[in-house]
Amino acid sequence: AQSADALDVAGLSVRYGRSITALREVSLTVRAGEVVTIMGLNGAGKSTLARAVTGLLPVQGGSIASGTIRSFGEDVTRRSPRAIVRHGVAQTLEGRRIFGAMTVAENLEMGGTTVRGAELRENRDQVYQLFPRLDERRDQAAGLLSGGEQQMLAVARALMSSPRLLVLDEPTLGLSPKLVTFVGDTIRAIQEAGTSVLLIEQNATMALSVADRGYVIEHGRIIHEDTAANLRADEGLQRLLLGLG
Ligand code: ATP
Repeated sequence: AQSADALDVAGLSVRYGRSITALREVSLTVRAGEVVTIMGLNGAGKSTLARAVTGLLPVQGGSIASGTIRSFGEDVTRRSPRAIVRHGVAQTLEGRRIFGAMTVAENLEMGGTTVRGAELRENRDQVYQLFPRLDERRDQAAGLLSGGEQQMLAVARALMSSPRLLVLDEPTLGLSPKLVTFVGDTIRAIQEAGTSVLLIEQNATMALSVADRGYVIEHGRIIHEDTAANLRADEGLQRLLLGLG
């Protein structure tokens, strides 16, 4: 039977070159409609997971050594980034990687190259509604936006492709507490609009406030998996994620 999970990763191992194994036998699931968070310290393998899912691994010199990645009933293992976007999986690039010399509107166009016509216009209206700050700054060079606004633009750009699954790689990195709250609200709104979310985060408090379930990754392995409510109550885990455990 074909699984209709938004994401179903099974036994995934990833290498960079010959000597570095960044993920070991990682298995995880994002059911359709869920927000699932992946937490872990620096170097645990979180970004590697995002790259494997979105096809960006080869660009970074990485490769899938074993395992499968399925999404909405199809095997997408080793597909190209563009094919994966077409399939309905979009991600915000690491850091904020927006095009600084282009306007906000042009950056959004770049995110919408796989959709056309009415759908493109609807997506544009939807993201400007979600991010009024970007609406106000449509014609401004993206490089002149504040850090928080650039982060919003990265999320908005990913939403332009009508994703069924959105992969967010540390969307709160470097943001003020107020903006972290805004990102959390935005993730809830995205989920309510019907998009599943894989949320990669170091900020466990924020991640567990919006997620349905979570996984903890350490040295390339999943060491813990539970509902967000149970993970929130786990003090040992909180210490681990703060680097104290
Ligand atoms: P961070 O939050 O610091 O980005 P992370 O949990 O996302 O950490 P990864 O960036 O996935 O972790 O890194 C996992 C391991 O793979 C680390 O040991 C890292 O040094 C290594 N690694 C990551 N990218 C590359 C690369 N392009 N080439 C070689 N090794 C890499």
